[in-house]
Amino acid sequence: MGSSSDDEGEEYLFKIVIIGDSAVGKSNLLSRYARNEFNMHSKATIGVEFQTQSLEIDGKEVKAQIWDTAGQERFRAVTSAYYRGAFGALVVYDISRRSTFESIPRWLDELKTHSDTTVAKMLVGNKCDLENIRDVSVEEGKSLAESEGLFFMETSALDSTNVKKAFEIVIREIYNNVSRKVL
Ligand code: GDP
Repeated sequence: MGSSSDDEGEEYLFKIVIIGDSAVGKSNLLSRYARNEFNMHSKATIGVEFQTQSLEIDGKEVKAQIWDTAGQERFRAVTSAYYRGAFGALVVYDISRRSTFESIPRWLDELKTHSDTTVAKMLVGNKCDLENIRDVSVEEGKSLAESEGLFFMETSALDSTNVKKAFEIVIREIYNNVSRKVL
């Protein structure tokens, strides 16, 4: 994170990470938000990728550098470097696959172990378009989020439901956290 000193062109840059089990839709959430694209069959190449998105808040340009594990989690090898310096996190499960919801506490632990600052966290129940094969109720998601102090949202990278909203809530919360500290 950095900010320039002159009032006029004040600019912020924050790192956000997306975590969660393999195939919950992390890459597609990012490509939907950053490029408005969705891939039904793609499998991202191995290696960390990030995209930068800007949002104007209080007349200031707030840039989010959003990182995708790009498959590292398949080998249980999300490195501490991935988490380092993150001010925000989307912790994602797939509402049609219960095991991915059951993994959430492990992802939260990992985030806590590796992060070095206050992290704005959003629990994301992705693939909410798959209502007919839902395996985790909205209430269960909400209740886990409440007990862990996380924001919560169900999304669909496929039909775009709440994708922009989820990222922007996290970006605004980071901005609020940082400006509270600065003032
Ligand atoms: P990652 O491994 O967590 O990055 O997951 P991907 O983004 O690669 O997605 C895994 C699979 O789930 C792909 O086949 C995607 O097309 C599919 N997928 C991702 N998001 C959604 C969604 O919101 N709805 C549905 N129905 N499928 C999705």
